[in-house]
Amino acid sequence: MSKTKIIKIQAKSIFTQSKLSGAKWVLNPYVGCEHNCLYCYARFINRWRPSNYGKWGTWVEVKINAPELVKDKYVDGLVLMSSICDAYQPIEKELKLTRKILENIDKRVKLTILTKSYLVLRDIDLLKQFKDVEIGFTINSFTNKAKKLFEPDSPTNNKRIEVLKTLKKQGFKTYTFVSPIIPELIDLKDIISKTKDYSDYYWFEFINVRGAGKQFSETLKKEFPESYKIITDKENLQKFVEDSKKIINSYKIKVKGIEIH
Ligand code: SF4
Repeated sequence: MSKTKIIKIQAKSIFTQSKLSGAKWVLNPYVGCEHNCLYCYARFINRWRPSNYGKWGTWVEVKINAPELVKDKYVDGLVLMSSICDAYQPIEKELKLTRKILENIDKRVKLTILTKSYLVLRDIDLLKQFKDVEIGFTINSFTNKAKKLFEPDSPTNNKRIEVLKTLKKQGFKTYTFVSPIIPELIDLKDIISKTKDYSDYYWFEFINVRGAGKQFSETLKKEFPESYKIITDKENLQKFVEDSKKIINSYKIKVKGIEIH
């Protein structure tokens, strides 16, 4: 039984206009995320929630009427699932909310899924019914201490790569979202070499220190002072970005975007 605080809500609408690169709409089955990444840019939402919800990562709002809201609804333009939750976070196994959304939604909708979880494999049967669908994985090099501190409750990167491979073998269009890129902690060469045969394209994103919040900055400063030194020094950071771009450009891969904040 999950320890997560579940709050059932009725959403007014389910497709939200997106300001994110590439997507016209976002679809979030949940608000909140059990993956509990320390750098999560959606953590700020906690400020707008009652204090009895607890910390980010311990509560999830469940849009229980989402499957009804998407029923036979068609929107034009790319729909990203999701931005303020992972649609395949652990609780989805039990609730099957994302699955019910996929069952009901118009299969002509152009869908892009971004996740960190192998649970997406459960829905292959439904995903195959879509005319235009792609599945992306956030992949970075966090292991050991960095994984425990920054991404404590999500599947390992090796597991994500394994699933990416399975999805490619199943004929899906796939992509890799390399994020958050942090000096000394992210090995771009290693990530690209391990994923390039299973990714149709890439997005790269350098850490957004401000978006990641105070707790992240303080942890990085304490636990990885070298990384912190680079990202907080304009000149060093610029050099790091330029060197990283050189590495990215040295591979024959399709890059849709490199986000620098
Ligand atoms: S998986 Fe994504 S939405 Fe969930 S906590 Fe991590 S960064 Fe935030």
